[in-house]
Parts: sequence; C-alpha cells; structure tokens
Amino acid sequence: MSKTILVLGAGTGGIITAKELSREAGKGSGVNPVKIIVFEKEEKNVFAPSLLWLMVGKRKPEQIYRSTNKIAGSGIEVVPGVIEKVNPEAISVTVRGKEYKGDYMVISLGVEQVAEHNLDNFAQDFYTLEGAKIFNEQLQKFEGGKIAVVIPSLPFKCPAAPYEAAMLIEAFIRKKGLRNKTEISLYTPEPGPMAVAGKELSGAVKQIVESKNIHYFPLHQLIAATENTLTFRLASGETKTTAFDLLAYTPKHQCPSVIKETALVGKSGWIEVDRNTMETAFLNVYAIGDITHIPLEMGKPLPKAGVFAHYQAAIVAHNIAKKIEGEIPDKIFNGEGQCFLELGDGKAGYAGGDFYGSPLPNVKMKKPGYWWHWTKVFFEKYWFFKYF
Ligand SMILES: Cc1cc2nc3c(=O)[nH]c(=O)nc-3n(C[C@H](O)[C@H](O)[C@H](O)COP(=O)(O)OP(=O)(O)OC[C@H]3O[C@@H](n4cnc5c(N)ncnc54)[C@H](O)[C@@H]3O)c2cc1C
Repeated sequence: MSKTILVLGAGTGGIITAKELSREAGKGSGVNPVKIIVFEKEEKNVFAPSLLWLMVGKRKPEQIYRSTNKIAGSGIEVVPGVIEKVNPEAISVTVRGKEYKGDYMVISLGVEQVAEHNLDNFAQDFYTLEGAKIFNEQLQKFEGGKIAVVIPSLPFKCPAAPYEAAMLIEAFIRKKGLRNKTEISLYTPEPGPMAVAGKELSGAVKQIVESKNIHYFPLHQLIAATENTLTFRLASGETKTTAFDLLAYTPKHQCPSVIKETALVGKSGWIEVDRNTMETAFLNVYAIGDITHIPLEMGKPLPKAGVFAHYQAAIVAHNIAKKIEGEIPDKIFNGEGQCFLELGDGKAGYAGGDFYGSPLPNVKMKKPGYWWHWTKVFFEKYWFFKYF
C-alpha cells in the first residue's frame, strides 16, 4: 500500500527531505510510489545565507528567494498555511482546520524568531528578508558614525553569520571611503566567536575580526535598548551603556509554539532526538535541523545550521525509504559539518569537521581566500537550480 509522509516546514531540512524521499522511496521491490505532503506557511522560500549579501547590496531581494510552490511535483504536494496542531502519536497535522494523517512524519519547522527589548522599533533584524533589505537601504544612506551588530541572546542559527555581517559591513564602509568616520562594533553574550568549534578556531576568527578594526565585545548581555543606546550586563555584573547610529541584530530564537505544546519537547525547550537517527520518542516521527537539541560531550548543544539540517534530512529520507521497502535503515548522522565565513573583499574562510568528536569537536579552519567565497556563491546557484 502507498505510504504517506508528512514533512513539516519547507526550509532547508524540509525541502531536502521531500526531494530525497521523492527520489529514493518506492523505487525498489515494486512498492507503490509514496505520497509526500509538505506543510509551509511562507510563500517565499528564502536562501538564508544570501541575506548577508543582501545587507550590503550584493544581492537584490528577488534574487534570494523562490516560490515555495515550485518544490511541488514528483509525488510532492505542498499544503500552504500555518500548521495549527501537530499530533505525534497519531502522526497527524492540522492546517486551516483540516487534519492530514500520515505513516511517517518529519518535523523541520526551524525556530520562531522574535525581537527582544523593542529592537524592532529602531533597528533591523537581518535574519529576515525585510530586515536585511531595510538595513541595506539605511547602509547605502549612511554617512559615518557608529554601526553595531548585536546578538541579544543565545542560541542563534549559523554561529558565523553575525561575524560575517560585521566584516561585510566593514568592507562596504571602507569601499565607500567612510572607514575613518565609522566605528563598527559587535556585541555578544558568547565568550568568543563560534566557541563550540574549539578555542583554536574561535581565536582565529576573533583575530580576523579584530584585524579589521571591528571592536569585538564578548560576554556582553543586552538588557535594554533605546532609539540610539544599548545597555549590557557584563560578566563582572556591572552594566555598560553605549551609543549607536545604525544597528543590525539577531532575533531571539525559540521553539515554534505549535510544537512547544506537544510531548515532543524536552527539558531543553526543543525537540530531543536520537543524535544518529533523528528519531523522536514517537514511532516513525523524526525531527531535524534547528528545532532539535543535540547535546555534545563538551556540554554545549550542536549549533543550529543549515548544513546539519541538510545532512540530517538526507539521512532521514533514506532511512524512511528503507523502512517503506521493508529493509533496515542503514544510515546515521555522524555530526560532520562545514561552514563558510565571508570576510568581505570577495574572500571567505572555510571550517569543517566532526562536531560529535570526543571529548571535543574536531573542527579545523582552512586558509581564507577568494576560492571559498566563490564556492559559497556556487552553492547558492546550485541550491536554486537543484531544488526549484
Ligand atoms: C543570515 C543567515 C545566514 C546563514 N548562513 C548559513 C550558512 O552559511 N551555513 C549554514 O549551514 N547555515 C546558515 N544559516 C542557518 C540556516 O539557514 C538554518 O540553520 C537552516 O535553514 C535550518 O533549517 P531548518 O529546516 O531546520 O529550518 P528552516 O530552514 O528555518 O525551515 C523551517 C520552515 O518551517 C516553516 N514553519 C515554521 N512554523 C510553521 C508553521 N506553524 N506552519 C507552517 N510552516 C511553518 C518556516 O516558515 C520555514 O520555512 C544562516 C541563517 C541566517 C539567518
């Protein structure tokens, strides 16, 4: 009998799950083709890494998204609308009052993004299409002063993104001849950049950021903001207030409310899964990507990043296809991951390795250069070509 797979969310993880399932499932042993139903609330499917280029005018908004509907076909149906209810026990999803039942469920709903300290009233959330677009408009008109990039809270997806944003802004300002009139600062509650990847890599990124005369303020917890000031609590317990003229920030990340109310969520506040198979506590229900919490041996969770959502999706799709064909699932997610680090001036760095490394992740950075930037550009083109 034909099987139905419900894929919740058409972001990085959801798209790859659906496409890989459509390619793999039902091919062997004469099983009927599968039905894949993807649920997504957004009409525009944004390629998030390109938001950083949009911030500094290297992309136009319409260049970095495609219509969600374009992923439909080859056994994939897209149901537009907000998921109102998820029932992992019954493997069902409700959208606009209609219940959809499946044999398997893959939850890839990412994070819910919210502004803190009223930052949305006087600054731009560069983790959204609109925020990155408006930030670029403001940057184009900027004539000098103080630019701040702020991380108000942890966790945030793509640990490299705010550092890349600061370096791309710095290159933009320098090219405009405004560098000696502009102070660029990056504030974060983290002890250092991309700390999960290890001291060596974190130190190397800090050194690159500071070599560009970007003022870096780790262990700065934002506690209040006004139209032109930011107040932080420091590690010492003291508070510090600084001024800004232009501000880009990361939003607070929380587990999507539709999932928060279910038994899928553990103590971490996110979905807890088997770190190799991405299975939840419910039979035939999987969760992948940013919505999951995977503790690492070093005490911190696996970072939220598209590369992990991507690999996890491919593995889950393969294993579901195996189950459907009555075979034993035979792939595991092993914690491998890579990322690019845009440095400005057409250059990028590249880091990758084993995040499940014991006792510490084993992640190394390659020598920065033009090659990595162009590899990132190529990946953007490949993404749109392959999936839309
Ligand atoms: C500026 C920026 C740069 C980045 N750069 C990189 C990078 O270089 N490398 C990298 O690895 N990662 C990068 N990332 C992170 C990456 O985009 C995410 O980690 C990745 O998209 C996570 O995939 P996901 O499938 O878990 O969630 P998402 O891709 O966020 O997808 C979740 C989907 O679920 C939908 N959804 C949520 N709730 C509902 C609901 N109730 N009903 C219906 N639909 C719903 C959402 O609309 C969304 O489409 C970057 C992120 C940003 C913001």
